Amino acid sequence: MTWQDDAGRDLVRSFGDRMAMFVRGEGSYLWDAEGTRYLDFLAGIAVNSLGHAHPAFVEAISRQAATLAHVSNYFATPPQLELASRLKRLAGTGDRGRIYFGNSGAEANEAAFKLARLHGGADRPRILALRDAFHGRTMGTLALTGKPWMQEPFLPMTPGVEFIDSTVEALEAALDDRVAALFVEPVKGEAGVIDLPDGFLQAARALTGQHGALLIVDEIQTGAGRTGEWFAFQHAGITPDAITVAKGIGGGFPIGALITYGDASDLFYPGTHGSTFGGNALGTAVAGAVLGEIEDAGLVANAAERGIQLRDAILAIDSPVIGGCRGRGLLMGVALRHPVAKAVVAAAQTHGLIVNAPNDETIRLVPALTIGDVEIDEFIQLFTAALRTVEDALVLDGAAHPEVSK
Ligand SMILES: *Cc1c(COP(=O)(O)O)cnc(C)c1O
Repeated sequence: MTWQDDAGRDLVRSFGDRMAMFVRGEGSYLWDAEGTRYLDFLAGIAVNSLGHAHPAFVEAISRQAATLAHVSNYFATPPQLELASRLKRLAGTGDRGRIYFGNSGAEANEAAFKLARLHGGADRPRILALRDAFHGRTMGTLALTGKPWMQEPFLPMTPGVEFIDSTVEALEAALDDRVAALFVEPVKGEAGVIDLPDGFLQAARALTGQHGALLIVDEIQTGAGRTGEWFAFQHAGITPDAITVAKGIGGGFPIGALITYGDASDLFYPGTHGSTFGGNALGTAVAGAVLGEIEDAGLVANAAERGIQLRDAILAIDSPVIGGCRGRGLLMGVALRHPVAKAVVAAAQTHGLIVNAPNDETIRLVPALTIGDVEIDEFIQLFTAALRTVEDALVLDGAAHPEVSK
């Protein structure tokens, strides 16, 4: 029996075939059972902010597991209070900020959805979200996710959510005094690393403010420094009413949070929400150590600088397949001129490089925030090799893609 047989028989079918089985990681590298090394530019989908097995992560998890892991939300613990205070500072909430801890991105967005309902009450039944944005796979967050094919097998959805285009005109047309909240994904990661138009977040802030609706920014993929600011909304110089975080803040430990600002912090009252595991001492100690290391090692600035360096190096590759780069910092989408992203991912893996294709014409790069010259140089070498493999296949198939067979 191979591991593929075991996975095919025992694991839920919703993920499709696993592409490899990894047994160990260190920094930006992964190893499979045969001892083959891979450069990891996916980092568990923007999760492993410090790479694999970082000493700060290992030390925090070991120390806290040996001290106190979990006591329930009937009680407080020092790591939980420290992380809450750190998140308030990094997110710029001021004194009135509050944190709800969950265990995933979806749970953070579920809390945000309930926050929107508490704010809206009977007078504001409308919730706006962006077409093509991704907010999660639970029934509530799926209702917020503007992708009909994802919702279709699970209809009916929780009512009240309306999807709009990511344009200032669409915002102006949709907002009125019956809107409880607008959900925004500041760079649409799962859709293919799609940037919002310039001025969109500022307009969203102005219009939601004008109509008394909450502006809720989903920073689950963009947060924890990935875009070159702690949170992507900070590039726009606005203050939202709430943000949600997960993925990168735990560095591989499952944790998520809803962070509220100002009046939105008063909406939840006793009994309105909860979680058994959320915010336990173990998870919050690890997230505190991960964010502390991002801060101490200057990794937010590193994400900004390495993002530019990586983009320039990719745009300098002489390949007829590359069409450009989207995204910000170390959340990058390489646009392809042909629908060959899956072939590029497969070719990359045979060359020892892990990347991901959120759609047929985009390669998503979300490496650890710790990457430097060595990782970028190696990435360019391996990525170029993978592109060559795919270009050769396209040339062989020249009739279908004449512009590549120059
Ligand atoms: C990954 C993601 C989620 C869902 O997070 P899970 O931890 O998978 O539930 C929600 N929103 C965005 C923007 C994401 O990237």
